[in-house]
Amino acid sequence: MKEKYPVVEKNVSGRYYVDESCIYCEYCVENASGNFTHDPKNRFAYISKQPENDIERQQISKSIEGCPTKSIHDTHEPAKGWRSSLGLDESTTPTSIGGGVMQIITGWFRKKK
Ligand code: SF4
Repeated sequence: MKEKYPVVEKNVSGRYYVDESCIYCEYCVENASGNFTHDPKNRFAYISKQPENDIERQQISKSIEGCPTKSIHDTHEPAKGWRSSLGLDESTTPTSIGGGVMQIITGWFRKKK
């Protein structure tokens, strides 16, 4: 199992992050330039923007697979706003999914009007 390294401080908060085992090969920056940036001073790459769509998530997944040091991590946290993208209230939780389904249905009917 890989030793645990500190998280690169410049990562923007969210689902993905880079740790300090990064060897600055720049693969991820070339592969997903919209989400990774390199820090030439400290010689790390970091997540400069969390993905906002499936294409960006796929590019990050490819970077995770290709990272030679396995320095890119996926916390599998749902992206902020996933509830509103489904038409759900942000307070909806898995335990209130029944209420969430009702929100989707009523939201759908409101859009139909
Ligand atoms: S692919 Fe991995 S080692 Fe290479 S720059 Fe990105 S995080 Fe660092």
